[in-house]
Formats: sequence, structure tokens, C-alpha cells
Amino acid sequence: MNGKKERGVRMEIEKTTSHQLLKSINQKKVQHLIFMEGPISRVELAVKTGLTQQTVTNIVNRLLDEDTIVEGAPSVSSLGRKPVPLTIKDSSMMAIGIELAGKYMRGTLCNFRYDPISTVKRSVYSYESEEGLFTTITSVIDQLLRDVPDSCRMKGIGLSIQGLVDSKQGIVLRSPGLGWERFPLAEWIEGKYAMPCYLENDVNLLSLNENMHGCLSGSANNITLKFDYGIGGAIVAGHQLIVGANFVAGELGHYKAFTNSDAYTCHCGDVGCLTTLASTSGLKNHTGLTVEEIAKLARENDLPTLQLFAKIESAIMTAISNTITFLNPDHVLLTGCIFEMLGASAVDNLKERVLNNIPKTCRDVRIIELKEKPNESILAVGLVLKKYFEVPVDSLSL
Ligand SMILES: [Zn+2]
Repeated sequence: MNGKKERGVRMEIEKTTSHQLLKSINQKKVQHLIFMEGPISRVELAVKTGLTQQTVTNIVNRLLDEDTIVEGAPSVSSLGRKPVPLTIKDSSMMAIGIELAGKYMRGTLCNFRYDPISTVKRSVYSYESEEGLFTTITSVIDQLLRDVPDSCRMKGIGLSIQGLVDSKQGIVLRSPGLGWERFPLAEWIEGKYAMPCYLENDVNLLSLNENMHGCLSGSANNITLKFDYGIGGAIVAGHQLIVGANFVAGELGHYKAFTNSDAYTCHCGDVGCLTTLASTSGLKNHTGLTVEEIAKLARENDLPTLQLFAKIESAIMTAISNTITFLNPDHVLLTGCIFEMLGASAVDNLKERVLNNIPKTCRDVRIIELKEKPNESILAVGLVLKKYFEVPVDSLSL
């Protein structure tokens, strides 16, 4: 092929590719508007997207063919027939959400209304090998897929992960519970199931959800802290989630909290980290007991256990006080089974001690407890919905 002809072919390919890209972006724009503002008519869609009536009609016809939107009944007024309202057919689209926790894996198949269709939970006693973990993930996904009536309804898989996650690239950077370092989990699942897969750290996902729909929805600057199998934190500043240079922002677990005879070695290699005693995995490592067993000893007024609780409460109090002093949030949201172990009034006592321990200028902060523990596998379904309706803004500059 001579150079001129080759260039011509390449330009033709580039033209076709950019045409397809534009078509796909326009479709996403229309879908996004129907999702956010539906019921909405074709005329309103054209006005709000700036696309021509014909382009909107073509896109709407494609979406109707795909069975992802639905036409409502046009209302009739004295002025004649009104436009047909369009809405997303959220009952027909589905996604799987998976919670990868330290000791179990839970998957839920939901439609786009977040109605659970089926749930699978597997106890995982140890994640000794990658192979064993894949077998468990695969068995959870395969079982849920059996309840999908038509594979074209499945729009993706979302995962909530206890560990550091590069959510942009779908990589688990570090997860002590899972024993992974820089593992491209999203790529592995996408390769096996041929559908999009998205990952997020469990506390970031919880924070995003509470900021969008829950108890942090009126807040612009907040911190979410989870004291559970491990310790995790999420920081929102100016309505934006702060992930830091290496997705480590908010990881309070390795804040140095214990000294002398209480300074145990942490899985990070250092000593005296908050997580060595203020998380269920740390407690199990250093006492050999589960949180239930420790809580029982506390109810029996076992003196060493009550002394241990006092140390844990003081360490958590200092960690939260310093975080508030440094970041000046309007809300701090607390969650995790460590608070249940410490007792019903633990959070109230903690609040009072924190407020007395921070500068007056920061005392407007509201420290709240997440009352109902959400099903994190359902929250993970939200990752698929968010991406499905997102307009790829980066692509517009191409
Ligand atoms: Zn550590």
C-alpha cells in the first residue's frame, strides 16, 4: 500500500472511531438526563442536551429497542396531546454487588432500583491463596447469575473492598485481610465475565453513599471512620472525596497510638498502630479472643478486660480529636463493631471526651454514629449505576 493510500485509510478509520465515540457520548448524555430528570420528553431532552430533535429521536429509539427506557402515557389536555414522558426501565437492568470483608464474602443481585433479587454469603476463614479466593468469588458470581433471566440485562459488577484500592484502575493496592498487593482484580473479573467491573474501598463507598443519600447529605466537610475487622477512614472536603497521592488518605489504622508494653507489632511492620488493639483482627491477634468473648468478659466486670477497654477508648478518643483538630470537619460519622463491643454508651462517652479535648474553634463538629449497618454489597451495586449513567467527560476533549 502506498503512503498516500495508507494515510487515507487511517483517516477514514479515525473518522469512523470519532463518529462512534460522539454517538456513544450523545447516547450517554440522553441516558444520564432521563436517569436524573425523568420522566422527561424528547423535546426537553433536545433542549437540555443541545442535540437536534432527529438525533434525540434516533437515540431514544435505540434505547427503547435495548429495553433500557420506557415510555409513559401521554397526558391529554385541552391544548391537545402532550409529549410522551420517558423514564429509565430500572426494574429490567441488573447489577451484582460484592462485599469482600475480612471473614466473609457477600454478593447481591439487584435491579437498578436497588431491589435485591438474590443474595449469597460465604464464610471465608482464610484467604490463603489467590486461587482459593478466585474460586469463592467465581462461585458467588456464578450462583447470582443463575437468577438473571437474560444476560443482556446485566450491566456490571461492583465490589466493596476492605483495603487500599485504586478505584480508577480497578487495582487492589493492599489488603491485609485478603493478602493482596497491587492486584488487578477488576481486569480479572472483566476478562472472565465480559462485563464492566468497578472497585472501591469499603469506607470510601460508605462515605459516598452517606454523603449522597444518607446522614451526611447536608455536610460539605466530613470524616467517616470505621473500627471493625480493620480500621478505615474516608475524608470529604468541599463535597469531594480526598484519596491522597497513593489512595491512602484517611487510613487511620496506622496512626501511632500505643507505647511501652501496649506497643504490639502491626501487620504493616511497625509497632503501636491504632489497629493493633482497636480493631477486631488486632484484638484477636494479641488476646487470642473474639470481640464476642471480650464483650462477655467486660459484662462480667473482668478487670484486665475493663483496663483494656479504657486503653482502647483513650486511643480512639485521641485519634479522633487530633483528626478533627487537623481537618476541621463539620461531621464525624462513626461505625464498626468495636463500638458495639465497647458497650451501648461508648460513643456518647467518646463524644463528650472528644469535645473536651479539641480546640473551641472546632467544637461545632457533630459526632454521629451510623445506626443501621448498611448492606455493603448493595452499596457496591451503586458503583455500577454511577458508571452506567456517567457521561465520559474526559472523552469530550478527544
Ligand atoms: Zn501499622
